[in-house]
Amino acid sequence: MTRARTPRPHEVDEARRDDRLLRAFRDRGRDPGWRTRGLCQTVDPETFFPAPSESAEAAVALCRTCPVRGSCLAWALEAGDLHGVWGGTTARERRAMAVVWRSGELDQAPQVAGAGARVPGQGGPVDSSPPSMDRRELLRLVNAG
Ligand code: SF4
Repeated sequence: MTRARTPRPHEVDEARRDDRLLRAFRDRGRDPGWRTRGLCQTVDPETFFPAPSESAEAAVALCRTCPVRGSCLAWALEAGDLHGVWGGTTARERRAMAVVWRSGELDQAPQVAGAGARVPGQGGPVDSSPPSMDRRELLRLVNAG
């Protein structure tokens, strides 16, 4: 298994300006029930785990229309190095976003300042789900409930 490479500076710069990241920061922790409304529940979960040689565009396109994409991406960024497509992003894109996410600089970003800002001293995961849980496990839980 090859180890994921560290994001390059220009990738982190792009992530910094990415609307998907800003939306995730704004929506983090706002909607604990986001999983039950994800559009991915209507399709084969494998769509969201394309092989390295396959395009992720089908999954990314569905995410673009998903009402909970901000919460979904926030969860994935908090969870860490997950595989597959979450919140309309690929794992590679999220690695660059994670650099910005963990830096704390979004707390200062004027685009998102005051929008659901994290309460000092109450940081941490956006919800209580185990970070190691992937979408297959989430879907099993949702469908079982
Ligand atoms: S992966 Fe996230 S953003 Fe994409 S459809 Fe599922 S819940 Fe929505």
